[in-house]
Amino acid sequence: MGTNAKQFIESVLIFGDQLLPHHPLLDPAQNRERSVVLIESFSRIRSLRYHKQKVGLVLSAMRHYAEALRAAGWTVDYREADSFTDGLRAHVKEFQPRRLLMLEAAEWRARQSQYALSRKLNVEIILSPNTHFLCEQRLSEEKAKETSGKKLILENFYRAMRKQFGVLLEKDGSPVGGAWNFDAENRKPYKGKPVPRAPINFSPDAITQAVLEKVERECPDNIGSTTGFSLAVTREQALQVLDDFITHRLPNFGAYEDAMSAREPVLFHSLLSPLLNIGLLEPLEVIRRAEAAYHDGTAPLNSVEGFIRQILGWREYVYWRYHQMMPSFQEMNHWQAERPLPAFFWTGETEMNCLRHVITRVLETGYSHHIERLMVLCNFALLAGIQPRAVNEWFLDSYIDAYDWVVTPNVIGMGLCADGGVVGTKPYIASAAYINKMSDYCGGCQYDAKQRTGEAACPFNALYWNFLLRFEKQLRANPRMGPNVLGLKHLDEAERKRVQQQAQRFLEKLA
Ligand SMILES: Cc1cc2nc3c(=O)[nH]c(=O)nc-3n(C[C@H](O)[C@H](O)[C@H](O)COP(=O)(O)OP(=O)(O)OC[C@H]3O[C@@H](n4cnc5c(N)ncnc54)[C@H](O)[C@@H]3O)c2cc1C
Ligand code: SF4
Repeated sequence: MGTNAKQFIESVLIFGDQLLPHHPLLDPAQNRERSVVLIESFSRIRSLRYHKQKVGLVLSAMRHYAEALRAAGWTVDYREADSFTDGLRAHVKEFQPRRLLMLEAAEWRARQSQYALSRKLNVEIILSPNTHFLCEQRLSEEKAKETSGKKLILENFYRAMRKQFGVLLEKDGSPVGGAWNFDAENRKPYKGKPVPRAPINFSPDAITQAVLEKVERECPDNIGSTTGFSLAVTREQALQVLDDFITHRLPNFGAYEDAMSAREPVLFHSLLSPLLNIGLLEPLEVIRRAEAAYHDGTAPLNSVEGFIRQILGWREYVYWRYHQMMPSFQEMNHWQAERPLPAFFWTGETEMNCLRHVITRVLETGYSHHIERLMVLCNFALLAGIQPRAVNEWFLDSYIDAYDWVVTPNVIGMGLCADGGVVGTKPYIASAAYINKMSDYCGGCQYDAKQRTGEAACPFNALYWNFLLRFEKQLRANPRMGPNVLGLKHLDEAERKRVQQQAQRFLEKLA
């Protein structure tokens, strides 16, 4: 670093979630006039409680990315600084670039601070569209439609993306298999067979070990532990994780997409989100690999379409929504839920078996799959009236794939419906009957999933019916909630009272 610093006309700043294999600002023909800067800053990491495995993943991936760029002939200024601005200021002072180039940040706050950098550092800043998201091109088009009063729902967004990128389409533009969606085939509970292949692990190399030691030293009070860290941290390893999923788990992904199991926490999920979210994998390459598996006959359509919908549909849709709804998104509280987050979210110590399993696993590993996030954790938080902001922060701190752009729409929007039904079209709520059908948690629980009231009754039941009673009028107005609200007609006055009292007793004890 340093000796020939002034020969560079421009510097490319790369954030830790932009470690793209095909970074649009890194044209090899320009590596004599552009240097690259990456900044490792702990001030923000310390101010939050991010899972230690996540911090380890991002920093190790950044250091490996810097090494790979150096090997490819780039001059890389990798700075360890207390604050991000301090690091960047030091870079500008030493390298004196005429311009600082960067991709727009995925997170709203980071993007706002990018706009202010020019003034702070007294250097010209050039922001380019973030190519890590495929929907960037759709932003203005869809926004214009919404402004004219047409509400965009996931399904329409997803179909438009399939058409735009030519994914799973026949020659005439119709969807392969005659339908856009195969959800009806994707709701099997898991009964122990087929046995999923265990995810692949990577032993930490010297770079990763140094990072993990630093994480334990710099943020000892963050969530989790770095012990047993085995995540992919390089592009090559990320591609191995992708291969492993496409070959061994994708074929059964669809059928068991909604299943939950205490014995098999990953089941047939991909574990790709931590890698996708920092750029080691790009969404379109993942989508093309899955599509190819269908065309090669190695994975069925219900699995391939279901998986592609998560990435080309949901992932892009939540990003798009987030940028439309920030900055007020995080303050939304449609159900006026004011209960603090129960302490067991930080320890896992609760008698409710499903919550205990999922929370303990998240605190240990930083992972649980989608249905556990939605139908166990958020379902509970919504029915129990827990403050959306507190739930959002817990998710942001606890998961290894957590970033504001993906957590906020999924928690405030989809999980808690605190946005009044913008991200999702209905609140995702369920009683114990759903958890009992889709998981093996209830068998090992001290509560009885089938009872609504009484000492042994599962709290999810009273909370569910209590929620329907409390918000009956609003829910009745939502066509997708019809069947839930109709169920109320089976509850006579006395039962309604018992349910409400049971819920009240449970909530009073919740601390
Ligand atoms: C309350 C809640 C919180 C969530 N928090 C996060 C988060 O912090 N980070 C995160 O990446 N995802 C989050 N999700 C979405 C989803 O649960 C995870 O992406 C998924 O569980 C990651 O595991 P996987 O890679 O094994 O996913 P798979 O089930 O294998 O799905 C494949 C990929 O699809 C994408 N995907 C699927 N669903 C969504 C979705 N709703 N939004 C965005 N991407 C999606 C992910 O990139 C994922 O890797 C959240 C969902 C809910 C309901
Ligand atoms: S009985 Fe209720 S609390 Fe226990 S595992 Fe089932 S749903 Fe969860």
